[in-house]
Amino acid sequence: MTRSAGGVGLVAVGDELLCGERREGNLGWLARELAERGWDVVEQRVVGDDEERLAAVLEQLMGACELVVVTGGLGPTLDDVTRHAAAVACGLELVEDAGTIAGLEAFWRGRGGEMPESNRRQALIPRGAELLANAQGTAPGFVVEVGGARLACLPGPPSEMQGVARDGLLGLVERGDAPRMARLFLFGLSESRLADLLGAWMERDVEPRLGVLASGSVLELKLCGRSVGGGDLARFEGRLAEVRECLGEWVFSEESGDLARVLVEELLALECSVAVAESCTGGLVVERMCAVPGVSAVLREGLVTYADGAKIARLGVEAGLIEEHGAVSQQVAEAMARGLWESGGARLVGAVTGIAGPGGGTVEKPVGLVHFAVGLDGDIQTHERVFSARGRAHVQGFAANALLHLMLSSLREAL
Ligand code: ATP
Ligand code: MG
Repeated sequence: MTRSAGGVGLVAVGDELLCGERREGNLGWLARELAERGWDVVEQRVVGDDEERLAAVLEQLMGACELVVVTGGLGPTLDDVTRHAAAVACGLELVEDAGTIAGLEAFWRGRGGEMPESNRRQALIPRGAELLANAQGTAPGFVVEVGGARLACLPGPPSEMQGVARDGLLGLVERGDAPRMARLFLFGLSESRLADLLGAWMERDVEPRLGVLASGSVLELKLCGRSVGGGDLARFEGRLAEVRECLGEWVFSEESGDLARVLVEELLALECSVAVAESCTGGLVVERMCAVPGVSAVLREGLVTYADGAKIARLGVEAGLIEEHGAVSQQVAEAMARGLWESGGARLVGAVTGIAGPGGGTVEKPVGLVHFAVGLDGDIQTHERVFSARGRAHVQGFAANALLHLMLSSLREAL
């Protein structure tokens, strides 16, 4: 097999990953980071803590790829075999790195003890390897080049792995011809409708390549120009402009697919206050907004009002309205939003009431029916959606996103 130019193979090491006791959480991140730098990820493997097997896998991948990245198995115990397998695969001996030993000794002295003998293992690297500093842990990673292929070994814990990759590895493996990428985040259209709109632009060998990822009700459309330079760049920019033109009304961001983040960041930029009243979503909308740093500068309040009495007492909804139309109705959603506006004084208000299921649905009001009311400065509009009844969490997640998107649209239309 000939080695693929710009090809990269990724390996996660650990019996716990192989047996499904821990979820593998490193390779996807590495694949994305490397692909953004122009690498072509050709293979991912999970291997147990078995030196011989790992050495064979590394040797094979180094024959097929220009870069192989391994995570895990750099610890001090005998079941941590990555450094030994790497040395075997590269045909290099392991040598003790004096600087790492000194660092480990200092670490243990700082804790008021002596370095356990088993830590010595963590200072072993294949002869000629370059160290990759680990700011969060005791064991550094390393990268070594043999016969035209580079092998990098990184620690296993995901945060350490990411730190070592960011601080060292990714800078070393920068490629001149990194692809031009753009991401459009869309709401309110289905994957199949999107595919119809994009037509032949989505064919696999068309440049730039288009990819669609659905995450709940948000779609991410990725444009990737593989060999960008000169005319290719113009072609990429041209296609990006065409795609924007075609999908403009559905694109809510080119930065983030998190509707709560996009909404809160715009509220912060506009210094616009907001309040939310939730039935059906149980606080999910406010919880997601509160994950965004700085939200307290704009969020006045979030009310979770489930009982009729709570809607009446907290939001001033009229009892007669609930009796006549039911708690899940356009009229009650509107009254909830109006109550928030009148009592709390936030400029942007949003309210949601619906049937999350699995019980509680009727022929007229099926599970998945959700009413929304949203308004800026008291100009309240209502909206109705019926989500497919694929479980409580599904309806709640879709309803939360819908309310966030309605609030964002209302803000953008008015300001
Ligand atoms: P340490 O010095 O902390 O032991 P290490 O490089 O030896 O680092 P491992 O012993 O293989 O790493 O793993 C340490 C922890 O990180 C374990 O809890 C392990 O389950 C977790 N881990 C390792 N690899 C992965 C991975 N690919 N995805 C998610 N978790 C991982
Ligand atoms: Mg391990």
